[in-house]
Amino acid sequence: MIKSEPNTQNPIPYGRQHITEADIEAVVATLRSDLLTQGPKVAAFEQAFATYVGATYAVAVSNGTAALHLAALALGVNETTRIITTPITFVASANCVRYCGGTVAFADIDPATALLDIDKVRQLLESKPKGYYQGIIPVDFAGNPVDMEAFRQLADAHGLWLLEDAAHAPGGYFHDSNGERQMCGNGQFADLAIFSFHPVKHIATGEGGMITTNSEAHYQKLLQLRTHGITRDPERMEENHGGWYMEMQELGYNYRIPDMLCALGISQLQRADTGLARRKGIARIYDAAFGEVAGIKTMQTAAASLSPAGDTGHAYHLYIIRVQDRKGLYDFLRENQIFAQVHYIPAHTMPYYRSLGSSKGDFPEAEYYYAECLSLPMYPSLTQEEQAFVIEKVKEFVGR
Ligand SMILES: *Cc1c(COP(=O)(O)O)cnc(C)c1O
Repeated sequence: MIKSEPNTQNPIPYGRQHITEADIEAVVATLRSDLLTQGPKVAAFEQAFATYVGATYAVAVSNGTAALHLAALALGVNETTRIITTPITFVASANCVRYCGGTVAFADIDPATALLDIDKVRQLLESKPKGYYQGIIPVDFAGNPVDMEAFRQLADAHGLWLLEDAAHAPGGYFHDSNGERQMCGNGQFADLAIFSFHPVKHIATGEGGMITTNSEAHYQKLLQLRTHGITRDPERMEENHGGWYMEMQELGYNYRIPDMLCALGISQLQRADTGLARRKGIARIYDAAFGEVAGIKTMQTAAASLSPAGDTGHAYHLYIIRVQDRKGLYDFLRENQIFAQVHYIPAHTMPYYRSLGSSKGDFPEAEYYYAECLSLPMYPSLTQEEQAFVIEKVKEFVGR
């Protein structure tokens, strides 16, 4: 039964974590063990996650932003580095370059998908002498996978590195030019990729992040940077004074993630496929409900993520619609205990990035998208009744 009076009993957020008894037991078992910080669960989580996304190496860190920061450092970002990213992302995608003193340039989005528009990136690259930019940070925004093969070709033509922000897309994939499935963050095309385990993301550890790569050199560098730039590996040390000896070889950080949280991550990862299937099912229902409704625009899945058989590599971190009166719809849904959200306020319009030289009006597609976008509830434990209620309320608002 669809409720027609305001739903005051169950607030419906746009995203939420799903914690089972097995998750709780996994954390408690680690709490009872001897090692709370870097114990056996860290390596086990890294191994399981690398396998899940098809990468050779994975390094678990304290959060997704720390993952971005370490990835930027591993790529050698410094005061002379200039990179290109999308304005429609969480600000951390750009901030990681600022942490290292580098310069961030934005390029506009493709309005159909809200992903970084590769043609705009190409134009920007061609507008400057070769060597002006050093890297690109594409974002698998909303879980919609970027065609990383196309970005690799562009990056190679200009001698750039690629850092994939896959925070929204564990389990997502696109098809390469041979028709092969390429998982987000598998390291085939991007030099490094990052993920986040913030509770609204697919896999929740409370705080947590992961960097994946197929490069052994990047992997070793990341391990060292994660823990103060210190190594305890005798083969990598310049001297060796005895069993206590360790060497700080560069300036690193404490970006470690505790063993308890990795135990939670391992437990969550075991349900990743069912959670992803559930997200796709929710998206299909929204698509069917809104597809023909005047006044609602749905977003397109990146072409390379669809297979001829009709399955999708979209990981659906978010389900986004576009409506003209977005604020009206947002407020109306809140009155009905439905807490939709806006992803994202364009990064280049933030006061901080404006203070560095960008202005409103710079990226019209991003700004037009921002004026209309709204992320509807999307998480595996969203019930059929709750989703039907959300759809009913959206249609009620748009139809009046
Ligand atoms: C969540 C997120 C991050 C940062 O992750 P945290 O774990 O919250 O630090 C980075 N990029 C994107 C696109 C995100 O959504």
